[in-house]
Amino acid sequence: MKHLDLLPSPVLATDLRGSILTANRDLLALVGTDGGACAGRTLDVLMPAASRIFMQTHVWPMVMRYGAIQEIYLHLSTASGESVPVMVNARQGRWDETECIFWVFFVAQERSRFEAELLDARGRAQRLAAELSQANAELNALHQQMSEHAQHVESENRELSALSLTDPLTQLGNRRALERAVEQWQKQTPQGTPAALMMVDADHFKKVNDTYGHDEGDRVLQELGQQLQASGRGSDLVVRYGGEEFAMWLPGATPDGARAVAARTHALIAQVRVGDRPISVSIGVVCAQHTLHKEQDMVFLSRMLQQADLALYRAKAAGRNRTEWHTGALGLS
Ligand code: GH3
Ligand code: MG
Ligand code: MG
Repeated sequence: MKHLDLLPSPVLATDLRGSILTANRDLLALVGTDGGACAGRTLDVLMPAASRIFMQTHVWPMVMRYGAIQEIYLHLSTASGESVPVMVNARQGRWDETECIFWVFFVAQERSRFEAELLDARGRAQRLAAELSQANAELNALHQQMSEHAQHVESENRELSALSLTDPLTQLGNRRALERAVEQWQKQTPQGTPAALMMVDADHFKKVNDTYGHDEGDRVLQELGQQLQASGRGSDLVVRYGGEEFAMWLPGATPDGARAVAARTHALIAQVRVGDRPISVSIGVVCAQHTLHKEQDMVFLSRMLQQADLALYRAKAAGRNRTEWHTGALGLS
């Protein structure tokens, strides 16, 4: 069958039991043997063990049943022991009155290489995907930590800013709380709105401490704070301005309104007793209107405080337990 050598693929023919009848030059070159060594041997001796098993269990039964197979992937062994991947087509036929099977092989080294590369690429892609998902998980955890930290900082800041506005003894606002409230009022209130500031100072408080002790003095201060809050409206702000001195900010209060608050304050404070004696306070009041220009915002409160203090001083000088008023304009025009 010299003409089989003309075909551009390894080719051989076997009988129906698989014994090699003939093989072309390309096939002999591929398996590295000569025609004499091949003839009469079964086809599966040219294959490594796995392909041989596959031949017996799958390929032969198919060829016998259907008379042909196509594109079966197998390996051939070379004389040097290498394993060459091949695709196989086979078909039963007749040759010189003999029933035989023709086998055509296509070396599939490229395909195998592509497959290996694909598998490798898939492996790398899977590793990358795993790394990516781990990085994402780490990023999420970090994000979670950061947002917890931010919440923590925010709540600490809130606590700090509440602390910085609160007097620890009376739990009233402090001087900063007053500044902030007045500043807010100046920003948000229409011109012409009235307001009043009352400075309230406990009379002879030193004697309270001296007679009943500092702790009792503290308790009295707390009670004073409560009564001051009760004497104003909900929108009024009572702060402990320092020591035994309180300030009341009455936004929207007319002079008459402020007068009523001052009277109520004296009445409620008289209910606070230390030992068998009532406490009294002296009050200095200044009334104002929101008529100021922006650049005067900063001096508004300090001028009010100054003038309320002067009135308070007069109340002390006039015998205490009374209210004195700053008369005249606020003096800021
Ligand atoms: P006046 O009627 O002139 O205001 O007399 P006063 O004794 O109230 O005024 P003075 O300024 O002479 O004394 C204020 C007193 O208030 C002295 C101080 O020990 C007391 N005091 C200030 N802060 C506190 C405090 O937090 N707790 C207590 N228990 N006493 C305080
Ligand atoms: Mg006092
Ligand atoms: Mg004082």
